[in-house]
Amino acid sequence: MKIGIDIDDTIVDFFEDFLSFCNEDLKINLGMEDLIERGFWNLLGSREKMLNILKKYIDSGRIYERNVFEDFLQVFEELNKEQIFLITARSYDKPKKTKEFLKSKIKNFNSDIYYSQNHPEGTKLAICNDLGIDFMIEDGPNEAKLCAENGIKVFLLDKPWNRKIFHENIIRVNDWKDFLSKFKEMKNGN
Ligand SMILES: [Mg+2]
Repeated sequence: MKIGIDIDDTIVDFFEDFLSFCNEDLKINLGMEDLIERGFWNLLGSREKMLNILKKYIDSGRIYERNVFEDFLQVFEELNKEQIFLITARSYDKPKKTKEFLKSKIKNFNSDIYYSQNHPEGTKLAICNDLGIDFMIEDGPNEAKLCAENGIKVFLLDKPWNRKIFHENIIRVNDWKDFLSKFKEMKNGN
């Protein structure tokens, strides 16, 4: 099976440090409630402002010092028996830096990374369609909804910021272990 996997807050703990960076750099005081209310891309009021601070955060190198979720590491060996494609909105990544980072953290990791911002359509959905992805694993509400509405099944990792999203193509999972058991059920045709 071809599985698409988001990176930030799906594999890597991202938002907490990114919010701290925004607060330090812009001398503001954003919290989780702002993220829940406005969503990641509207956090600072416009997509352009978000892209600017995201670029600054990536340039600072802090994004390459984050941790990979422990439960992901525990299921990775099983997951890696399938065809895995990482699909991310992480723009301005330095060449190969994210791949090097993930290789350093995840044993036997060698999947290719696809950047939605580099695709002419700018969406993860477009990459899923190009690659013929069977399903996506994601935490972001907007990308999950777009994929689901266009016939791509999504396993949505439950997070405070995606609890208003429901769709028949979305299967909500509590964590990576929950994903693995639901995935096995799906494979066995249950
Ligand atoms: Mg994400």
